[in-house]
Formats: sequence, structure tokens, C-alpha cells
Amino acid sequence: MSVSNSSAGVPKKMKAVVAYKPGDYRMEEVDVPPAGFEEVLLKVGGCGVCAGDLKGFHGAPSFWGGNGQPAWIKAPFIPGHEFYGQVVELGEGSEEKYGLSLGDWAVSEQIVPCGKCRFCIEGDYWMCEVHNIYGFQGKVADGAYAEYVKLPRTARNHKLPQGFPLKVAAYIEPLGCAIHAVERGDIQFNDVVVIAGLGPLGLGMVQAARLKNPKMLIAVDVKEKRLNLAHTLGAELTLNPMKEDVVKKVKDLTGGYGCDVYIQASGHPAGTIQGLQMIRKLGRYVEFSVYNDPVTVDWSIIGDRKELDVRGAHLSPHTYPSAIRFLNDGRIKADHIVTHELPLEKFLDAFHLVEKGEESIKVVLVP
Ligand SMILES: [Zn+2]
Ligand SMILES: [Zn+2]
Repeated sequence: MSVSNSSAGVPKKMKAVVAYKPGDYRMEEVDVPPAGFEEVLLKVGGCGVCAGDLKGFHGAPSFWGGNGQPAWIKAPFIPGHEFYGQVVELGEGSEEKYGLSLGDWAVSEQIVPCGKCRFCIEGDYWMCEVHNIYGFQGKVADGAYAEYVKLPRTARNHKLPQGFPLKVAAYIEPLGCAIHAVERGDIQFNDVVVIAGLGPLGLGMVQAARLKNPKMLIAVDVKEKRLNLAHTLGAELTLNPMKEDVVKKVKDLTGGYGCDVYIQASGHPAGTIQGLQMIRKLGRYVEFSVYNDPVTVDWSIIGDRKELDVRGAHLSPHTYPSAIRFLNDGRIKADHIVTHELPLEKFLDAFHLVEKGEESIKVVLVP
């Protein structure tokens, strides 16, 4: 067993964004966390800004507690879960455990499983009951809006291959989630597949679904720019619900039956209703969206009228290796998805850019 091993020049202090309460995120100087037993320290190369980070910043009750919900966030904390970095310190045992060496580039899955709950023990680690995710729980899973990030001993770390395009490495996490949603759709060659919502996740889903070679791949969004991008990334048909009756269009294209698979990634209630309308009987409906408020739909469509197979999708179980492989070999492209890199100090500008969503798709903070 090796003892702790570290690169020269790891400082004692680092700059980091520390979140205290909604709207109160500060740039501070904090201690660099040392890598203990089976822990790893990364020097952060970049960290993507996720819609979830914005939810945290704006004080979502499902994160901070309230409206009868317990707090999931543990403040103060350092945000950021879509990160990549270079190994600068290997705690005792971590070299053997992860096959990592100093200087390697690596990523860590967003969830840090507890390893002890029923789900972790049964292998369903992404549903860990404790559910610590980088960038939401201070101390136990501080994130990477910082110069360094510590990977706790139960983390799921992956080494990046030599020559991996680091420019898109912060996209590995969203792509892992996108691949999982597509796998949940169980796409067959003869399927007409609709993907609704072309944010960073939806654009990854389009590309992952493309690799499944369905009969027809349709992308839906209200933004023309994103529809055009989805088209270049593999969607045969793009539809804008602001401009046409997309339910009618999909029904017309399928002899009146409807699509076989519908993946909802728009986060908008209209996308749910539209999906239930355009999907065929016995179709597979994958729900990926995170909604601000409860959504009302006609549940009798799911049972009585269509006997749908409704499947949830959460995080990225077992999909990091595929995400890394596809970005590395270029079968999935993210150079037009990772649109902006901003210095860490400008995190508020980054939040703003993501919120507007006009010019940006994925914004990456670089410490
Ligand atoms: Zn994310
Ligand atoms: Zn667990």
C-alpha cells in the first residue's frame, strides 16, 4: 500500500466560491483540503455551470428546505459538480483503488455515494439515499468552483485517456446524464424518437440517440439556433412548437400513430403534455426534466388510453466510460455546446449567461 503522494507546489490556500445562503455566494480564500485515506486531490481545470447550480443560487426549497421539504444542501459549501482536473495528491490507497497517478487528468461522478445504504449496497449507487452530490454539501462533497477539489474515498473517479480534448471535459458529466436518459428509452432500429428540449443535456441526447440509429430522430425546441445545432448533430427533423403544431406533425409522419419514444428534457410543463399527446400507444416516455412546480397532466392517457411505459432518468449510472469514449473519439461533439469559458471570479456573470441562454449553451468556469 502506498502512502500519500503529492505533486510539488500544492499551496495551503486556494480561491473558491463559497455559498452561504441563496443569493449570497462569495469569492473567498479557503484551505486546500488534504487528501486522506483513499482520497484524491485534483487541481481543477474547469467546472461547468449547471441549471442545478442556478436553482441553488435562487434558493429552491427542494435544495434549501421549506414548503414542507427538508434541506438537502449543507451550507456553507463550494458549488460545482461538472469538473475535470489534474491529480496533484493521492491519499494512501487511492493509487491502487483508482489506477490514478500524479499528473493524470481525471473526472469524478457527480454523486458521492455513501456506500452503506440499501441502494449503494445493491449497486444502485446513483440512487444513494444520503445523496451527497459535489457542490451542494459543504465538507462532505465540496465542489469545484475552486482551484482544487477533493474526491472523497467513496467517490467514483475516472481517468481521462491521453490526449483527451480537455476543452470539452466539463461536458462529460452532462453527457453521462444524457446517455443514461437515452438508454432508458431503450431505442430500437425501427423507432421514431422525439427529444424535447435542446439545452446541453438535450443536445447530448440527440447525439447519443443518433448512435442508436433509430428510423427517425426528431428534435424539438423553441430556439432556432439550438434546432439548427441539433440538426448538424444528427437530428433528421427539427420542430419548433412556437411555429407549428408539433403533435400533428409527428402524428402525420407516423401514419397517425405517434412517436415510439419521447424523451422530455425541456423542463417546461408544455413539453410533458405535448409528449403524452404525440407518443403512440405502448410507447416509452422518458422523464428527465426538473420542474420548478408540480405539473398537471391527464393521467388517464398513461393508463387507460395508451398503456405507456413511463420511465424516470436521474444522473449517469455506469455511463461515464461511454461519455469519455464518445467525446474522445469524436463520435459525440461538444465544441459547439461548450460555448463559453469564464474566469472563476466571474461566476455571477456566468450564472447570468446561463440564465439568459441566448448566446450560451454550456458555460465553464476556469479557476
Ligand atoms: Zn449538472
Ligand atoms: Zn448510499
